[in-house]
Amino acid sequence: MIISVVGAGIIGLTTALTLADRGHTVTVHDPEPASGASHHAGGMLAPTAEVVYKQDPLFPLMRASAEWYPDLIALTAKYTDLPTGYRTDGTLVVARDTADKTHLEELREYQSRHGMEVDKLTVRQARKLEPALSPALAGAVAIGGDHQVQPRLFTRALIDACRSAGVTFTTSRIESLDQLNKADQVVVANGLGASQLVAGLDLRPVYGDVLHVRVPQHQYPLLTRVVRGFVEDRPVYLIPREDGTLTIGASTREDGRDQPQVQGIHQLMRDAIELVPALEECDFIEATAGARPGTPDDLPYLGRIDDRTVVSTGYFRHGILLAALGARCGAELVDRQTPAIDLSACDPRRHS
Ligand SMILES: Cc1cc2nc3c(=O)[nH]c(=O)nc-3n(C[C@H](O)[C@H](O)[C@H](O)COP(=O)(O)OP(=O)(O)OC[C@H]3O[C@@H](n4cnc5c(N)ncnc54)[C@H](O)[C@@H]3O)c2cc1C
Repeated sequence: MIISVVGAGIIGLTTALTLADRGHTVTVHDPEPASGASHHAGGMLAPTAEVVYKQDPLFPLMRASAEWYPDLIALTAKYTDLPTGYRTDGTLVVARDTADKTHLEELREYQSRHGMEVDKLTVRQARKLEPALSPALAGAVAIGGDHQVQPRLFTRALIDACRSAGVTFTTSRIESLDQLNKADQVVVANGLGASQLVAGLDLRPVYGDVLHVRVPQHQYPLLTRVVRGFVEDRPVYLIPREDGTLTIGASTREDGRDQPQVQGIHQLMRDAIELVPALEECDFIEATAGARPGTPDDLPYLGRIDDRTVVSTGYFRHGILLAALGARCGAELVDRQTPAIDLSACDPRRHS
């Protein structure tokens, strides 16, 4: 089949690669590949630590996608030698003060009730794993199943893999799906831009500020696994990369401002230093802000809307994690197979 994919973010790229691997002729259209949310994301694959209360329909999707991630990484490696930053060292979640510890405890109970594996640690045990953690912490848990990729590396690798698998890229901005009338099937995967192509999608930008620092050689590696924390109830995360950098994120704001905000950056920096004091000695590299493609119920839009069109967007906070699911189920929908997981909660028409 001849297939057009609109958008070369993580969702469009992983879907295009999966479709090309299934033997289809695939073209991806994007004036600026990998420039959207996927460029700014932290890259945590965190079906447990990222749990949000009362979002139960999302949990099985996150869990399935985490299970399928090794297959997605293997598929990428089948077509490229470029690195993805995929690491399976696990995640620590720490609490700064006693109120944060109560929050962590409540979250752990909720996670355990939903069958997720979370191990309680003493602060001493946590500091044995990560000596750079502050001794002033109030509590910690370990989540072995929460992993990470480095999104900028991963999207670069995916573009290379797509090319090796025979995918063609154009720099066309798609203004209407009629432009793609030569395609048998179209996958709409252009993040926030999808609402301009498909009526009834209710997408909004949820901005997040992110920081990048470099760990000086004498301190490397400052951390060896993802550290998430609560500081006066504010969430913050630190993601160590193999290239010696650390990503610190992320704020959440819906103020329509697409540049990193001083307040958000200041807060992130202060909270991260509370958890890992030696961060003060790192080199500052970059502050960025990205827009998560949010939906009213925080669930993606993933489904077929007519004979020719599959929609795959609205992945909000979890698009890097959910890419394994989006790619696999998106390809199954294009091929008119029953998706490997129940997608009824993701119906793209549910808000029209
Ligand atoms: C600060 C921040 C931190 C995050 N951290 C994480 C995390 O740790 N883990 C996680 O799982 N998720 C995380 N996310 C969420 C994740 O980044 C998104 O859910 C995911 O990147 C969405 O991918 P996408 O491919 O749907 O959209 P995008 O990455 O936004 O890609 C859309 C693409 O479509 C193109 N496009 C737009 N309009 C058109 C058009 N008309 N024609 C052609 N092309 C078009 C754009 O140029 C862009 O390249 C984070 C997001 C942010 C902002």
